[in-house]
Amino acid sequence: MQKQETTRIKKEDKVKIIAGKDRGKIGKVIRVDKKKKRLLVEKANMIKRHVKPSAKNPQGGIIEGEGPIHWSNVMLICSSCVKPARIRMNILDSGEKVRVCSKCNENIDSK
Ligand SMILES: [Zn+2]
Repeated sequence: MQKQETTRIKKEDKVKIIAGKDRGKIGKVIRVDKKKKRLLVEKANMIKRHVKPSAKNPQGGIIEGEGPIHWSNVMLICSSCVKPARIRMNILDSGEKVRVCSKCNENIDSK
């Protein structure tokens, strides 16, 4: 068993949510918080927040935005086989580390 101390998911990746109220939803990662081990996924886990009046929003009120999701609750969608995939790390001859899909063996970072 591997410890989930880090994630191989990066900003702009497509992920599928595998737990919580948005289970099954697919979206793009818009932020990765490595300290809190959480991600923001576009249009997923929407939460309402109360905001104070500001120049942009003089009335204040309630805004809706993406709420953080723990990264163990999402799976990366492979850009080649378009399936939720486990990721392996591969080291190229050049020494560069790339992410490889465990299903189709395609280099996920070569787009
Ligand atoms: Zn794949």
